[in-house]
Order: sequence, then structure tokens, then C-alpha cells
Amino acid sequence: MLPIDLTGKRAFIAGIADDHGYGWGIAKALAQAGAQITVGTWPPVLSLFQKSLERDKLDLDLPGGGKMKIEKVYPLDASWDSLADVPPETREDKRYKDLPNYTIGEAAEVFKKDWGEKSLDILVHSLANGPEVKKPLLETSRKGYLSAVSSSAYSMVSLVQRFGPLMRPGGAVISLTYMASERVVPGYGGGMSSAKAALESDTRVLSFEAGRKFGIRVNTISAGPLASRAAKAIGTIELMVEYYKKNAAIPETNTAADVGHTAAFLCSALGAGITGTTIYVDKGYHSMGMTADAIPPSPPPTQA
Ligand code: NAD
Repeated sequence: MLPIDLTGKRAFIAGIADDHGYGWGIAKALAQAGAQITVGTWPPVLSLFQKSLERDKLDLDLPGGGKMKIEKVYPLDASWDSLADVPPETREDKRYKDLPNYTIGEAAEVFKKDWGEKSLDILVHSLANGPEVKKPLLETSRKGYLSAVSSSAYSMVSLVQRFGPLMRPGGAVISLTYMASERVVPGYGGGMSSAKAALESDTRVLSFEAGRKFGIRVNTISAGPLASRAAKAIGTIELMVEYYKKNAAIPETNTAADVGHTAAFLCSALGAGITGTTIYVDKGYHSMGMTADAIPPSPPPTQA
């Protein structure tokens, strides 16, 4: 047996607010492999998430028995690095006003106080936000574009800057990307395709810089479409799921568990040689160059 054993490892997963998305699939796989789970949740959805947890409304069941335990939920708005960056309208917003330490820098400080100087093994960036995602790039404003890149790509750089020093050597960072970074996907607008291209490039550079500085690995998973809450904001996710199911190399629907299992492998000792890479978990859709039904199957050969 070649096990994926994350016993004694601590994970921080940024970007969980319900049990439908990729972050949840990753959390469950890491928990199943024995890791201790902490999460970072966006303030506007924090109270809803905490209530769902308290009322036992989330699917915490682990395959093979047992339940995932979330050790702590940290408020986290990955658009800001320190309180000084937060604009007054956000600071005064009722969902933020009474909330302590929700910027990335503050969350890292609280994490250090909670668990100690070198206390983190796995850092997951599973978040994205593009306010103009429904607009084609040709109609995207500068503000919308920069906001998408700031919240969805720079947030990863900032997380590694601030949580990297807390990571034990041998640790791993994972983010989630999408193939719209390298191919045209109509409907994935607002600068989100640009943000994912930046995220993939930053994965390569950070693998070198954080690899040398902290002794950690940095990879990104390019996932196929999943009807998560964030993806529903795109407006075409159900069509995308169906399209992939029809045209991927393996004609099946992508699942959060598929992505979770790949993340667990990448974060384990079994992935020790992999860093700076974009790994596709999309049932092979990225390899296709034509739709599956573009050419009708050839008729059986006729007998002479
Ligand atoms: P999700 O809704 O489960 O996760 C997105 C999370 O980002 C949410 O919890 C949301 O609250 C959080 N978030 C938004 N803005 C934030 C901010 N400023 N600070 C902190 N958190 C913030 O949806 P998901 O689709 O599982 O997304 C997770 C990751 O997977 C994203 O990076 C997404 O781009 C990527 N991805 C998704 C798909 C898909 O089809 N669902 C495909 C490929 C990649």
C-alpha cells in the first residue's frame, strides 16, 4: 500500500462558505487523509456559513466513516492585505464593522498566535471574485479588471507572502485555476481569464521563490466546471458542465472529490517532486481539439 497520510499536518483553506465548492472537496480529502482543517471565509458569507456549521447543515461525512472537524473558521477578505488598505465603505459595512482581523496580514498574525511560529503545512487558495465576470473583456472596465486580478490572483501572492513564513519545510500550496487562462471561453469575462493566467504564471515564479525561501511547493489545479455558488454567478455554468460532459476525453461530470483527491496527493509526500505546475483535473477536456460529435463515427466496413 502506498498511502496518502497527512496525519499531524495542519491545513488552512481560504475560500470556503458552503459544502458545494472545490474548497470543500479539498477540505474533505485532506481531512480524510488525517490533516487538521482550518478555513478562511469571506465576511459577507461568514455568518451564514457559521450558522450552517452550528446547525449541522453541512455534509461533513467522510468516505469510510467519521466526520470532518473544522478546528477554526477565520474571517478572511483576500482583497486586502492590511486594515490600512480597506476602503471606508467596506470598513463601515455592517458585515465587516464588528469583525476583527479579516485582512490577509491580520489573519496570518492571528493564525501564528493560535498555532505557533511554524505551524502550517498546507495552504489552499480556493477563491475568486470578478465583479464584471458576465461582461466580455471588450466591455470590462479598468476597475472591474483590476478588481478581478487583485481578488483572484494577487490574493494568492499575498497569502504566500504572509502565510509562507508560518509553513514548515516540505509544506505545499495549492490554488484553483481554470483553462480560460489559455483558451477562449466565451462568457468567462470581466478579466477573470486574465486573473487565471496571472495565477498560473505566479504559481511558477512562487514555486521558485517560496521553494528556496520556505522549502515549500506551489502548484495549481486547473479544474473542469462545477456548479458551485461562485460559478453560478457566471450565468452559464450548467451549460458548461453539460458541454464538458459531452466533449471531454472521459464523458463524465467533474466532481469536487476528483479535485480534492488530486490536492491531497499533491500536498502529500507522494507529490514531493511536483512544483510550479498546472495540473488538469477536468476528465481530459483540455486535450481535446474538436467537439466529440464533430465527425460522425465511420460506418462498419462492408464485406466484399
Ligand atoms: P465557491 O463558491 O465554493 O468558492 C469561491 C469562494 O471564494 C467563496 O467561498 C467566496 O465566498 C470566496 N470569496 C470571494 N471573494 C473573496 C474574497 N475577496 N476574499 C475571500 N474569499 C472570497 O466556488 P468554486 O467554484 O469552488 O471556486 C473555488 C475556486 O475554484 C476558484 O478559484 C474558482 O475560480 C476555481 N474554479 C472553479 C471552477 C468551477 O467551475 N466551479 C472551475 C475551475 C476553477
